[in-house]
Amino acid sequence: MEILKFPNPNLFVNCKEVKVFGEELKTLLDAMWETMKSSNGIGLAANQVGLTYRMFVMEGLNGDRFNVINPKEISRSIVPANIREGCLSAPNEFLLRPDRAIWIEIQFQKEDGVVFQRVFKDLQAVCVQHEMEHLEGKSYMQSKTIPKAKRKHLAKKWGV
Ligand SMILES: [Zn+2]
Repeated sequence: MEILKFPNPNLFVNCKEVKVFGEELKTLLDAMWETMKSSNGIGLAANQVGLTYRMFVMEGLNGDRFNVINPKEISRSIVPANIREGCLSAPNEFLLRPDRAIWIEIQFQKEDGVVFQRVFKDLQAVCVQHEMEHLEGKSYMQSKTIPKAKRKHLAKKWGV
């Protein structure tokens, strides 16, 4: 799959809920995982490869794989993560988002539709927050928590 870069319009789409679970979905998630791994990423949202559905793949701490479908936030820490984040759709643009929580609890479905609830911490927590923002069609570079001058520079550079 081709990873789309900012300002590709698919990256600004508020993605649709996944309602059909089955072999086709699994095949798409497998292809997303391979694409992410071959680009050395730890997370990839579906709209980054042009699929405007609410799902992403993510690598866990021990290299384990998460297929996260229709995620909903349950709760999050008030403590900031203080971890810089990058994006496969904006190569080499690493940013610190002061609003990222050090842990987040989400409810989501797996590829077979089964509902899970789980807490993610540290880098995975930041990744979950980053990918969920993708699914809303938002850019991680345009948060109000980033200084205005920096945001202006990023908007010009990436067209966000
Ligand atoms: Zn991203």
